[in-house]
Amino acid sequence: MKITSLRGCQPIAENSPADWRTTIGQILVAIETDTGLVGYGVGGGGAAGIHVIEAELRSALIGRDPSPIEEIWDDLYELMLPYGQRGIAIMALSAVDLALWDLRGKEAGRPVADLLAGDQGSRVGEPLPTYITVWDGLAEAFATGHRAFKLHVERNSGPERVARVLDTVHQARELVGPGVPLMVDAWMKWDLDTTLAVAEGCQDLGVDWIEEPLPLHDIDGYLRLARESPIPIAGGEHEYTARAFQTLIDQRLHQVLQPDVCWCGGLTELVKIYRMAQGTGIRVCPHRGAEPWSLHALAGLDPDPLPESGRPWMTWVGGQPPIIDGKITLSDRPGLGVEIDEDALPL
Ligand SMILES: [Mg+2]
Repeated sequence: MKITSLRGCQPIAENSPADWRTTIGQILVAIETDTGLVGYGVGGGGAAGIHVIEAELRSALIGRDPSPIEEIWDDLYELMLPYGQRGIAIMALSAVDLALWDLRGKEAGRPVADLLAGDQGSRVGEPLPTYITVWDGLAEAFATGHRAFKLHVERNSGPERVARVLDTVHQARELVGPGVPLMVDAWMKWDLDTTLAVAEGCQDLGVDWIEEPLPLHDIDGYLRLARESPIPIAGGEHEYTARAFQTLIDQRLHQVLQPDVCWCGGLTELVKIYRMAQGTGIRVCPHRGAEPWSLHALAGLDPDPLPESGRPWMTWVGGQPPIIDGKITLSDRPGLGVEIDEDALPL
């Protein structure tokens, strides 16, 4: 099999939020081969990501056998080394890598989850519990059958913010009842003192983790949280490559790692991260894990899968398994199982 073309576009997502995901948005990559098989992957980086692909990655891939994905990843990473060890370039590489995995599964005629699981067997066809991420919609999500929740509480600021966050968590616990998983996400907006105060205040509220409380560069702050927080700290949503995750693991910086497969370097890196975390006591719980790009890793490699709800505005990705009564079931369609209507996209 040989790669004959590589195309990328930034699909318009009508209801995407007005933040960096719109401006530096999600990109779609299609890789065609001489067998007629087409692989699809989603990454990030918007127009800049597409520029990286067109200026550098495309010419390195045309004419190449797409099968040795891990070797290809290393070659592309090396090409981008002077400018691309983190951020937009790795987001672009993620889309290419996922498209190659889609091809690998399609060529084998099997879902990627099965290829990852090997003899152990995957959870394809098995309903998996999910959690949903909410800002203001907790009651509605609970009413529609969701049974695990993450509260975005980063908007709280000022001297009263600890009290307000604790009040929000308390009210959430009252609503969902005991035993229902509840997490909070601060999206890099807090400082050490705020985080420790929230963590101490949450001790009796059954919070499974506090997510990304500090800016990513505050390593000293995270090391103190690792020692002093009574609630597990989650992170890694905005980290890139398995090498960087190895550092997080070595430092025991987080108890829950949340790589985003469309940003961190693709499935090749997510697989490495799962394997590196094995036996360390650190949990891997991918960001947006219910989207088809990640879900195969959760269904193929994760001992305790808890996929996070995906992003509803990415309606241009067809074939996404729905979440019904809080559960998601991966189908046995080959590859990553997505359906892309190219006629509807500027591919
Ligand atoms: Mg988050």
